[in-house]
Amino acid sequence: MSKRSPRGFDVLHNPKLNKGTAFSQEERDALGLTGLLPVTITTQQTQISRVLNNLRRKSSDIERYIFLFALQGRNERLFYRLLIEHIEELMPIIYTPTVGEACQKFAHIFREPRGFYITPQDRGRIKSILENWPEKDIRMIVVTDGQRILGLGDLGANGMGIPIGKLSLYTAGAGIAPEQCLPVMLDVGSNNSQLINDPLYLGLKQPRISGDDYLQLVDEFVSTVQDVFPKAVIQFEDFITANAYSLLNIYRDRVCCFNDDIQGTAAVVLSGIYTALELSEQSFTDCRIMFLGAGSAATGMADLLVPALCEAGLSENEARQCLWFVDRNGLLVKNREFLNPHNLPYAHRHENADFISAINSIRPNILIGATGVHGAFSKEAISLMASINQQPIIFALSNPTSHAECTAQQAYEWTDGRVIFASGSPSKTVSYRGQVFKPGQGNNAYIFPGIGLGVIACRASYISDEMFMAAARALSSQVSSSQLEQGNIFPSLSQLRQVSFQIALAVADTAYRQNLAQIPQPENISAAISELIYDPTY
Ligand code: NAD
Repeated sequence: MSKRSPRGFDVLHNPKLNKGTAFSQEERDALGLTGLLPVTITTQQTQISRVLNNLRRKSSDIERYIFLFALQGRNERLFYRLLIEHIEELMPIIYTPTVGEACQKFAHIFREPRGFYITPQDRGRIKSILENWPEKDIRMIVVTDGQRILGLGDLGANGMGIPIGKLSLYTAGAGIAPEQCLPVMLDVGSNNSQLINDPLYLGLKQPRISGDDYLQLVDEFVSTVQDVFPKAVIQFEDFITANAYSLLNIYRDRVCCFNDDIQGTAAVVLSGIYTALELSEQSFTDCRIMFLGAGSAATGMADLLVPALCEAGLSENEARQCLWFVDRNGLLVKNREFLNPHNLPYAHRHENADFISAINSIRPNILIGATGVHGAFSKEAISLMASINQQPIIFALSNPTSHAECTAQQAYEWTDGRVIFASGSPSKTVSYRGQVFKPGQGNNAYIFPGIGLGVIACRASYISDEMFMAAARALSSQVSSSQLEQGNIFPSLSQLRQVSFQIALAVADTAYRQNLAQIPQPENISAAISELIYDPTY
């Protein structure tokens, strides 16, 4: 029996088919919609104006978040067209910071199921349940276990808002089709008792599983994906540092996967470093970089900087000597009693030192904050950087702004306006002694959509450091001279689609050069990538 095409209300209630008042008279007649819609036919642009007006009238960002995702559930193409055209305004709502609040309130604002949930009860049957997912050609999976959601800690199954938000950026930012995206929550319990005791909480109400039980569940998930969705890229998201590293180390050379908190952040920062050094006419191989914070974000940056410095001509040992870490216990040195495995390669022979003495002794030209600690870059530290360097390069990356190591205003004031500055969250324009600066945002969203698109385009067997390095160079090449003049070392978010395309091209090109692509090289890679791009216009 042939399947009948949907008609009437079934069309209007299917978010992939629905165009609301934009259905033409011919479509209304053909689909049995006449009478079901007001008579006036509107364009998608008119619909966008109406939605935008309604959105802006909402009294809070969380209300805007609820409104936007309700739109996605009603008219998917309108949602994505709106997102593409107003990405700068809407990214802080569908992603950080509002998505954090949405996760905290997930169980309370829950409207309809989205994404896929796997629990320890599914051990041994993940394959059969994964086949319940209605789409069969999945290319991009974002998976979390909800244990370290942004800076908010263990939010258990409430963390599902993160894969959902991130995948909407893969679609809006790079054009990966929504039906090819799968958000996954590994609901392994939660150690957040407040959450578990909330009567509305929707996740597994038990402490987190750990150790072998945890690793075996993740392993069954990863290997089942290879079986059920063999063309999918897996992006690990918001795992606690120890698990983030363990999982990345297990899978990075075996399956097509990456960890955005570690590798995506690293590529954005590497791009910022390339651009800032070019702007200040300093050599990459002569750099001395000091990180404040030695967790997954900062160590991930260093782990990409090492191959990048080697590519620029240094030995691995020389590259490591350029990279210094200070954490809450001071300078990371060899004789420290306890060192995390991911910190070991960067523990240098040096006497113990606090942050200020370490700057005095190492004399870095680049200072990068990834601590999550508001004010960790004191006036003393920044002024010291300015006394050592003509143009100090300072990135205060912790999110949200209330957690940033320093503000843009402080960085400019404490360096007499000489700093090259970037932050993790958007910074306000800074006026200092008649000059106007628009500092850039080291936002992972510049990198991950393009990485996803490039890897999907060539079906890379795994994702190499060289691909992240190529992504960083491609991002850096997209910064315009007028942006540089205003002290901005990143492109505007409104350029995201173009930036992602250039990154995808660089990533696919690198995969072909490294023989990591699993589909034959097309004559024109750029044209092949263009063909993949989802366009929600109607
Ligand atoms: P993490 O918990 O793994 O690491 C935090 C590190 O900071 C630890 O090494 C800790 O010792 C150190 N630290 C804490 N307080 C300190 C202090 N007062 N002085 C010196 N060091 C201190 O966390 P993470 O995943 O590495 O993330 C750290 C921060 O980086 C977060 O706040 C996050 O917002 C930010 N981040 C930003 C981006 C981005 O902007 N693109 C991406 C990822 C992470």
